[in-house]
Amino acid sequence: MRTLKELDARGKRVLVRVDFNVPLKDGEVADDTRIRASLPTIEHLLNQNAAVVLMSHLGRPKGVDPKYRLRPVAFRLEELLRQPVHYVPFPPGSDEAYEAVQNFGPGTVTLLENVRFEPGETKNDPELARRYARLGEAFVLDAFGSAHREHASVVGVARLLPSYAGLLFEKEVRALSKLLSGYERPYAVVLGGAKVSDKIGVIKSLLKRADKLLVGGAMAFTFIKAKGGEVGDSLVEEDKLDLARELLAEAEALGKPLLLPVDVVAAPEIRPDAPREVVPADGIPKGLKGLDIGPETRERFKAALEGSKTVFWNGPMGVFEVPPFDEGTLAVARAIAGLEGAYTVVGGGDSVAAVNKLGLADAFSHVSTGGGASLEFLEKGTLPGIEVLGGLP
Ligand code: ADP
Ligand code: MG
Repeated sequence: MRTLKELDARGKRVLVRVDFNVPLKDGEVADDTRIRASLPTIEHLLNQNAAVVLMSHLGRPKGVDPKYRLRPVAFRLEELLRQPVHYVPFPPGSDEAYEAVQNFGPGTVTLLENVRFEPGETKNDPELARRYARLGEAFVLDAFGSAHREHASVVGVARLLPSYAGLLFEKEVRALSKLLSGYERPYAVVLGGAKVSDKIGVIKSLLKRADKLLVGGAMAFTFIKAKGGEVGDSLVEEDKLDLARELLAEAEALGKPLLLPVDVVAAPEIRPDAPREVVPADGIPKGLKGLDIGPETRERFKAALEGSKTVFWNGPMGVFEVPPFDEGTLAVARAIAGLEGAYTVVGGGDSVAAVNKLGLADAFSHVSTGGGASLEFLEKGTLPGIEVLGGLP
């Protein structure tokens, strides 16, 4: 993988694909984590007096849609960089965008409009990739969160220009690679979230590498039901019961513990003030849903994590958006954050939000901005965006 250090950007116009897919609220950036994450790459290029041209997607607009304009992002970026950001309000493949970019010289920062305003973006249209390639003399891919997508602004344009991984991209690849090889043991993986089906690939890949797997969240109920437990009205993927049995058998064949909840906090519905009960995880009465791991499970998970040297965590242990069903997730976050001398990584939009909510981000070795890209990387060991830059470092 070619990296930014190999690029002599002095006086060059450099096109940079970032992931500025941030949440907006009332026309302003509600969480600027992803913008901050690419500041090192942007500042590195500015220090070399490059003309920096940024592009990103935002949301999932179908064509031009005023709701998904990047203007609020340009404002926030301007504040963070303490220098003007030229916002170009035309679709990034258009002649208008190309002409606008010609006006900005060395040391400037330009933010192009949402790449998803271009119908060819997600189809990796070669003509669109050529139009993007006119916008710079070199290309830097810093959008790790999009590296699993074969889109024109990710892989298409990278094939047409001298291309390099940005500093964030490189940091993500290095941090996640340590979960696939060269890790210290014992190695524990904690998985939660809504669906088993989202995470089959990761479970299979990490089951081979880790020493134990801890499963919470709604996804645990598919496993519990597959083992014959009663899960009441909890979320279950009925069509994944066979798969869950297969995964359980695989763990057993490998001699690796796959820990499931023994108790859960259950309620008739997802409401902060709903009446709660702690019940056995495999004996949830009809009319109740398991919404969080119970106190006994929290203790067992904590004990199982004790002494780990490598931990990967993805997916909340319960409906953490609705307190008090966040307690199990918070307990697990604290347990991982408190491990001494361990290499700890959290990935996934919701689990990272939980860690941030607790102010525990600094206690983790790495907080991945990747989401789907991180999971796909851990499953396959590479991503289209990595391959196009020359493969793993
Ligand atoms: P991540 O974004 O960290 O990868 P997921 O998107 O896979 O995590 O899952 C997060 C979602 O799972 C949250 O919206 C959460 O409410 C939901 N969830 C977790 N546990 C339960 C549960 N027991 N019942 C219903 N939903 C749950
Ligand atoms: Mg999610």
